[in-house]
Amino acid sequence: MRKKRFLHKVVCTHCGERVPWQHSSYRHPLIQLFLEKYPTATIPFWCDTCMEEEGVIVADWQRQKVDGGFSSDAFCILYYVDEVKTCVSCKEEFVFTASEKQFWYEEAQIFIEVSPKMCLSCRREAKKTGPISQQIALLLQEVAEQPSREKYLQLASLYEELGNKTKAGQCKADAKRYP
Ligand SMILES: [Zn+2]
Ligand SMILES: [Zn+2]
Repeated sequence: MRKKRFLHKVVCTHCGERVPWQHSSYRHPLIQLFLEKYPTATIPFWCDTCMEEEGVIVADWQRQKVDGGFSSDAFCILYYVDEVKTCVSCKEEFVFTASEKQFWYEEAQIFIEVSPKMCLSCRREAKKTGPISQQIALLLQEVAEQPSREKYLQLASLYEELGNKTKAGQCKADAKRYP
């Protein structure tokens, strides 16, 4: 009975194709947990073909941070997918890419409930006044492209404002590696 319940659910939520339940992503412990919590829900499952075609990145969900107080239904992100959003400032469309998401939620450790509201150029404009998490995300992208002592020190002080002494210390140490 239990096996049957799992079997009829194994359909790619993107292309609608049935896929063998032995698929490695389907056996992901989080998907089992998802089924326990939402027995009638559609599993956020993508088949291998769709993942490859859409450039989907499988998330390392254990690195994600969830704002527990925000919603009791908050659930980890299993896959990062490119997403078209509209900038609240200039109203232009922009893409929050799968790799940007991976960076935000795994490297910068921004809560998974948070996502960019503005396109990159508007975010640059708002950098000085924007929320700390967005300033950090932007700076982390900048140091990945072109690291400098000044950027790492800026990061360190932002992390200090957030009370994250470990990250602040790491950034100070990184700053020393650049003139
Ligand atoms: Zn598919
Ligand atoms: Zn914009």
